[in-house]
Amino acid sequence: MSIEKYRVNPKTFSLKDIKTNDRSERSGGRESDAEELSRLSKEIFQLQDVLHAQTRHSILMIIQGMDASGKDGTVRHVFSGSDPFGIRVVSFKVPTREELLHDFLWRSHIHAPKAGELVIFNRSHYEDVLIVKVHGLIDEAECRRRYNQIRDYERILTENGTTIIKCFLHISKEEQKIRLQERLNDPTKTWKFNLQDLKERELWKDYMEAYERALINTSTDYAPWYVVPSDSRTNRNLLISRILLTALRGLKLNYPPVPSEYKNITIKD
Ligand code: AMP
Ligand code: MG
Repeated sequence: MSIEKYRVNPKTFSLKDIKTNDRSERSGGRESDAEELSRLSKEIFQLQDVLHAQTRHSILMIIQGMDASGKDGTVRHVFSGSDPFGIRVVSFKVPTREELLHDFLWRSHIHAPKAGELVIFNRSHYEDVLIVKVHGLIDEAECRRRYNQIRDYERILTENGTTIIKCFLHISKEEQKIRLQERLNDPTKTWKFNLQDLKERELWKDYMEAYERALINTSTDYAPWYVVPSDSRTNRNLLISRILLTALRGLKLNYPPVPSEYKNITIKD
């Protein structure tokens, strides 16, 4: 299970080297992919149960990507067949007035996982160096300060027991066109469509530049970025599952030891 090739190395990374239509996580057979996904999900949830029981470590999975890149679908997939205890999803929207009165990391920090939790951020504090930068709401100097602040913030979380995994769902502009059109054509999906999505789409090049810079400046040993080729949903789900499973396995989780005074208890009638 090599996820290394998707990891962002800040010294060599260039977004254009990564193919959005890479399908190399797939086996070639639809059925065997479905079986593999279900096997991975099972192991994820066995380990997540231990994470929850042990209340020692926590995991924060950050998911970023353009509109229709599959952020919601990823969350749904990762949680399919899961036990809701110890799991939480947080979606970051345009900041409220209250949130804007605080520093940009405040609303992220209050939702960070506590010990035993697996939290998924659907968008995150990275919006504050992406959309905010693309629209010129912060200048270059402020953007650099924010990269530094994000690195410091994520270091603080990891030093306090949180494993951070960051995934950029990488789709092509052509794939986004297909998916946005699908949203408009399918009334059960249209609620996700927003006219603003088209304005953001026009800024595609600027977004790719902002993503590339954000990834390079914030992919660290303790909180690495992974670029997930996402034109294929199956490829995306397989890779995300493998990345999450690698993190869970790495924690060497154990159920808490049985207290000695419990060992001789027999429940009476
Ligand atoms: P969605 O994820 O489609 O529900 O849309 C949420 C919208 O909120 C996206 O357009 C985000 O770019 C936007 N958003 C999230 N965080 C911020 C932020 N910190 N500043 C400005 N816009 C944001
Ligand atoms: Mg949207």
